[in-house]
Amino acid sequence: MRIETIAVHAGAHVDPGTGAVTPAIHPSTTFERDADGSYPRGFLYSRNSNPNRSALEECLAALEGGEAAAAFASASAATSAILLTLRPGDHIVAPIDAYHGTLRLLRETFAGWGLDTTFVDMADTAAVRAAIRASTRLILVETPSNPLWKITDIAAIGEIAGEAGALYVCDNTTATPVLQSPFNLGADLVLHATTKYLGGHGDVLGGVVVSRTRDARFDRIRAVQASGGAVPSPFDCWLVRRGIRTLPYRVRAHCENALQVATFLHGHPRVEVVHYPGLPTHPAHDVARRQMTAFGGMVSVQVRGDQARAMEVAAKLRVFTRATSFGGTESLVEHRASIEGAGTRTPENLLRLSVGLEHPDDLIDDLGQALS
Ligand SMILES: *Cc1c(COP(=O)(O)O)cnc(C)c1O
Repeated sequence: MRIETIAVHAGAHVDPGTGAVTPAIHPSTTFERDADGSYPRGFLYSRNSNPNRSALEECLAALEGGEAAAAFASASAATSAILLTLRPGDHIVAPIDAYHGTLRLLRETFAGWGLDTTFVDMADTAAVRAAIRASTRLILVETPSNPLWKITDIAAIGEIAGEAGALYVCDNTTATPVLQSPFNLGADLVLHATTKYLGGHGDVLGGVVVSRTRDARFDRIRAVQASGGAVPSPFDCWLVRRGIRTLPYRVRAHCENALQVATFLHGHPRVEVVHYPGLPTHPAHDVARRQMTAFGGMVSVQVRGDQARAMEVAAKLRVFTRATSFGGTESLVEHRASIEGAGTRTPENLLRLSVGLEHPDDLIDDLGQALS
């Protein structure tokens, strides 16, 4: 089935007891046992599993074409669960421009537990190959990457992971399963912040690990989920599942708007450079065309001038709201360097735009007046 049909139907079943078409929310933490002590309906205690979570996991696995999925209270919890299946002394190769929270998790938390990470530019396959050690157990990629929307050739890095015998994890948050299918390009696990486009309305935090195969590795992630307990609430699961129903249509509109915004900014005299994989001037536009069906809703722009000028432009925007995160219906703008703080690699004149679902002409008018 096509992704639009999967988004509407996967894990969504008419309730046999009531005939309700829209799923109920099950806040119950505990579930009845039979007289013989068994749980014939499969649910025991809500940290282990819950009907809303199971429905969401079934849907997320289907969207990515994986065999199994484990949902978490945030993508950071999902990332942690993957890392907790490694052992002290194991080596990781991760993108130098990975999501800010992932970098902090690797540098500040897991380094102290004996996981050693080499951070590389994933666009440079020779550098990735050179970073591999005998102890390399995991390679993480994230594409398009934040906030320069660099493109990693998922299949090329997958070959290196295969040769190294390392687990290959792709953070597919910015592309979504609508635009990119990492399992078809060699990934073993796909990671998502459902907080972003999957939830889609800026009202729920969540993460998921989807596994290509239901194997021993996935069982260990499932065990971390149940015993670590960083699980999403039934209502959170219900909200993400509800958001997914319209995912393919929303993502298409985000992409169309973002391309128009990027094209407008690209020709603007007060703009130094626009970062968007859909522009033919993007250094990896060809790779993006090969592995994505469209180029996403995120655009970054370096204005002519310094940090103060970038902040001034952000302050003049009226339709864009100054806030972090992305993937909701409303357009957001963020000066990344100042929120990333000391040691950031982000240019000081860069503004990151999450292009929302407003009319593109209103977004372009707003950017035009703010830049003038
Ligand atoms: C937001 C984000 C995360 C973290 O998501 P949380 O739900 O906030 O933990 C991880 N990876 C990417 C690419 C993200 O954009």
